[in-house]
Amino acid sequence: MPLISGYRDIMKSFKLLKTLIPILLVVLLILPGIQYTAQNEFKRLKVVVISVDAVRFDHITQLAVEGQLPNIAKLMSSGIYAEMVVVFPTATAVSHAAISTGAPPGVNGIVGNSIHLPNTSVTSTTSGFSGFNLLSEPIWMTADRHGLKSIVVSFPQSTPRAWNVSRSILFNFYDASAAFTASTLYTTNRIIGGATYIDFTNATEWINVEKVFGSVVRALESSIKIGDTTWYLYLADLNGDDFYDKLAIAPEKDLLKAYAILSEGEWSNPINTTIVYANKVYTISPLFKAIKLNPVSDFRLYRGLTRPFEATWYNNADVAWSVWNNVFTKTGTFTDGDYVGLTRGWFNEETYIETVNYTNRLFAEWTVFMIKNYEWDLILTYTPVIDNVYHQFLGLVDPSMPYYDSEKAKYYWDLIVRTYKIVDEFVGAVLESVPPDTVVILLSDHGQVPIKKIVYINGILCNRGYVAVDAVFRVNVTGTLAYAPWHVHIFVNLAGRESGGIVPPANYSLLVDELVRVLWEYRDPETGERVFDLVLPREKAEFLGLTGERIGDVIFALKPGYTSSTALVRDPETGKAVEIAPVIPLLTSTGDHGPHLPHYKELRAVLIASGPGISGGYLGTISSLQVAATIASLLGISPPRDSKLAPIFISREALPIVFTYTSTITTTITSTTTTTLRERVTTTATTTLISPVSTTVTETIVDYTLVRIVGLIALIVGIVVGYVLRRK
Ligand SMILES: [Zn+2]
Repeated sequence: MPLISGYRDIMKSFKLLKTLIPILLVVLLILPGIQYTAQNEFKRLKVVVISVDAVRFDHITQLAVEGQLPNIAKLMSSGIYAEMVVVFPTATAVSHAAISTGAPPGVNGIVGNSIHLPNTSVTSTTSGFSGFNLLSEPIWMTADRHGLKSIVVSFPQSTPRAWNVSRSILFNFYDASAAFTASTLYTTNRIIGGATYIDFTNATEWINVEKVFGSVVRALESSIKIGDTTWYLYLADLNGDDFYDKLAIAPEKDLLKAYAILSEGEWSNPINTTIVYANKVYTISPLFKAIKLNPVSDFRLYRGLTRPFEATWYNNADVAWSVWNNVFTKTGTFTDGDYVGLTRGWFNEETYIETVNYTNRLFAEWTVFMIKNYEWDLILTYTPVIDNVYHQFLGLVDPSMPYYDSEKAKYYWDLIVRTYKIVDEFVGAVLESVPPDTVVILLSDHGQVPIKKIVYINGILCNRGYVAVDAVFRVNVTGTLAYAPWHVHIFVNLAGRESGGIVPPANYSLLVDELVRVLWEYRDPETGERVFDLVLPREKAEFLGLTGERIGDVIFALKPGYTSSTALVRDPETGKAVEIAPVIPLLTSTGDHGPHLPHYKELRAVLIASGPGISGGYLGTISSLQVAATIASLLGISPPRDSKLAPIFISREALPIVFTYTSTITTTITSTTTTTLRERVTTTATTTLISPVSTTVTETIVDYTLVRIVGLIALIVGIVVGYVLRRK
């Protein structure tokens, strides 16, 4: 019995197995199908990058924690945030180039806000903000190459003419300038510096006075010029109390045609009109402020930065015209807080902050307009306002600065906080307008350090005989051995390399050693403190990412608290060049960045990101060289060609991509010079410059159509096999 019963049990189990196996097989085989079908969840995300110039990690996180920046706090709590170490020099053009390309300055070619090129005079430079000087591929080109649409609202090196994009929209409104662009103050007060001086006389021949003002007891008139076009000013005392109540700005002496009628302290709306300059018509949208109407001897009418439409700042005229009519005609054309007006005493801090607000409004409204009205996969946008206010006020809030005043510090810190709050509003407007599959990244390009003294680098070189000057302290290139055309880089005026170079290659190393020693030994005469943080010959600067022929023969960094100037200023007392001078708050910058090493806490930038599949909170310290790869991974494309580091984070929902690199590094000896010395001994000096790195990227884009077909076949095979086994 037990035996038979055992046999029956086995038979029963076998029958059960016969039923179970096909089910098991079906499940096993359809699993990959289900898994691959789930890949359908992966999507190509959209990315918006807001670069907020000079945001400090410590300040933004502090203000977010205090609840002062609700939108930024929301980004941080829902996504990730990190402390970002940027490249050296910590300058805007340099840092943005590293962010957009993923390549260090020596590779991408942007080694300064101004760049000195070989075969030019040792004093000459070209702009580091120009896209023509960027040697590596920026992320907007990578995206365009992959068939995606980028919109660059404004980013250093986004020079529209420099990039051959097929579907992307590039702007750089900073390129829109003409002879009349600079802001000015129209004033009767000749004591005020750098202004446009005007005079008032009794108003005559004005029409429609009564229609506009009712009665006017007394009126004065004057005129101003924008380009070659004259506008008229009508200053009215309405009730005869010797106080001028209203100012009209009009294209002719007809008050019904007035562009603006302002009371003292009032801003105009943007004046949307055209003017003529050198026989060419320009469309403009300037803002005016009637800073002071009384007394007439101190009349002050301010005209803000006036950028024209007719300039090369876009690659699509229709889109640009739409931006002009929908955005700039409402915001005006400020692209920076007007420090010129503040430092020249045209107006006070409050008016300065108003120019900062107008600037942020332009970039915020422009960005939202592009988000809402055009197709895009990637938007790169920018606002300079934190950088603007730090340059003016950062030192004034720092107790370690010699000019610190605790009462004033509260006021200036409040101005900085107010500016962070308008940036937060910018972020809020972007968050409200982006579609749900968008990753929003807020980042900065560097921080700023408070400064107490300015180091005149060429002044130090001049007083020691390396820079030659004429009677009015202009550089005499033919007698100059070495010169710093931009902060951080000192070039030897090398024969055969610099145009008009005088230093024989045989003397090169000796001169470099000498320059390094002179600077390293230089001390603040007042405190005895060393002012240089680092002084290196170029071949030792590779660890800073500085390689190639665009970097100085000597590289230097300054200690926090000091900043550099390349200007040559004669000290009237000694007749020598000024080497070091104190900062004068509100006249010179009290905050700065550039010649400072990026690891200091004040220089640390920020990266905050939020969007589908992104979480993790605080990520610690990251490198700005990882940003380009991060954006690429979110877009599901390979990183820019010279980007070498891994992404900072990935989205669980981003389209995956497989790619491989093959890199070729080519080294070339670029110049060999033969020099004959007096002893008739012939020596050969060879200068080896570090070559550009060329990289080829091969990539395989995973085709999910194929993956899904494989999944489907697996599913069908599973069902068929199951059915066949079941029948047996
Ligand atoms: Zn910057």
